[in-house]
Amino acid sequence: MEECIFCKIAKGEIPSERILETENFFAIKDANPKVKGHALVIPKKHYGTLLDVPSSLLGEFFETAKQLALKLLEKEKAEGFNVVVNNYEVAGQLVPHVHIHILPRKKDDGFRMNV
Ligand code: 5GP
Ligand code: ZN
Repeated sequence: MEECIFCKIAKGEIPSERILETENFFAIKDANPKVKGHALVIPKKHYGTLLDVPSSLLGEFFETAKQLALKLLEKEKAEGFNVVVNNYEVAGQLVPHVHIHILPRKKDDGFRMNV
């Protein structure tokens, strides 16, 4: 699974515009956004789910998600945001390379989270 779609994006084999980047992570727009501004934080190395990410990287992973959320709140003039990580297929994970979804939210945007 080292050559999954996000590995190819991470290596630049598939071009993408990076919204932000840290030593071990980068963020890109979701190709099929559920709301305007929907973006993903992705590790540069392949880890399947959150359980596979070394504990030493979790701080940087979520700090990157925080910085992305701040950026998207400003850019989209959003009033809030959801943070989602789907782990394993049964939970809705389609790309088997862990990623944090950041979904900027506005009143009456029509998006429903059933958690
Ligand atoms: P999951 O269901 O695995 O949590 O979410 C995968 C997400 O990745 C989906 O929201 C989907 O739209 C997005 N996605 C899948 N392939 C690509 C791609 O090649 N480029 C980008 N930017 N997003 C992708
Ligand atoms: Zn991968």
